[in-house]
Amino acid sequence: MKITEIRTAEVRGHGYSCYVRISTDRGITGMGECIHGGAGIQQIIAALGSLILGDDPMNVDRLYEKMRRARVFDGALAGNFVTALTGIEIALWDLVGRAVGLPVYALLGGKFRDRIRMYADCHAGGDDSPAANAAKAAEVVDLGFDAIKFDIDDLASPHKKDAYNHTVSRRELDDMVAKVEAVRTAIGPHVDLAMDLHGRYDASSGSRIAQALEPFDLMWLEEPVPPENVDAMREIKVSTRTPICAGENLYLRWGFKDLLEQQAVDIIMPDLPKCCGLSEGKKIANMAEVYYIPMAPHNVCGPLGTVASAHCCASVPNFLVLEWHWLERPHWHELVIADPPLIQEGAITLTDKPGLGVDLNMEAAEKYLKPGTRLFA
Ligand SMILES: [Mg+2]
Repeated sequence: MKITEIRTAEVRGHGYSCYVRISTDRGITGMGECIHGGAGIQQIIAALGSLILGDDPMNVDRLYEKMRRARVFDGALAGNFVTALTGIEIALWDLVGRAVGLPVYALLGGKFRDRIRMYADCHAGGDDSPAANAAKAAEVVDLGFDAIKFDIDDLASPHKKDAYNHTVSRRELDDMVAKVEAVRTAIGPHVDLAMDLHGRYDASSGSRIAQALEPFDLMWLEEPVPPENVDAMREIKVSTRTPICAGENLYLRWGFKDLLEQQAVDIIMPDLPKCCGLSEGKKIANMAEVYYIPMAPHNVCGPLGTVASAHCCASVPNFLVLEWHWLERPHWHELVIADPPLIQEGAITLTDKPGLGVDLNMEAAEKYLKPGTRLFA
């Protein structure tokens, strides 16, 4: 079997996602999805894909390394090169699965679980008061989710002293505590609750926030500081009993190496359809397992990228929970042909269908296509 064509489509999602379709001389196709990856993602995928035209798609890891190493001098160590690779890699797994009649998790070594637990990323909308967030939390738990996440870094806070300084003000900290307290009270003690800071605070602020939130027994506090300085992340981690989670902006195994070796976090959150792909994601999870650190992947993808992440999550022992970021974007469900709906009672149940086991709804993809672009042209 030989790869004959690689085409892409940018479709509205959380921003836009890039879908990748790989065709072969046997008439078997595979489809993947990566997060948008920024301007020029389709051109980068076309350039990388041209390197594997005529190759046998069965050798997924080798093709991935072939493309990555060919572009290392252009920057394929991180960023949108790796994101583009990820879209191709996921499409290759789907293709191989369809060719041999096996689900992707089986190709990754089999599954530890059928049911992939999801957490819902929640926003109260325009009203960011503690009461509005508490009401949203209760509403989402009623949908069947037993794990939820909110943002508590309010860039528009009138209590920020400066737009660029990263120090949390007393009033900001009080507002954070009030919001978390209201949500925790609304959902009770047994629903897992995470809070995200998007790497927008300095090291001492990160510790103060983490310590102030200790009474609410968070599942994690996400990225208190930016991701570049592992020492600072570790300082925060050892300063608090609130678990610290980070990694959505790290790429490949090497991006997680120092974080794990220094045990600078309690949980890692690679974004699989952005930072690595499924095979590399499994290797990152396996590295984390050495340190008894669980993986809770970040995810803002549409249904294909989300299900692809779920296959990787099924294949590793230390999976904790996978993100779902589309509560306020109902067209997520339109983009996939799935009966019954993919997410039920806060989880995705993987089937034994070949490949990813789901198909992109082409009519919906056309409907939400990025203006000025064409569908798999
Ligand atoms: Mg985050």
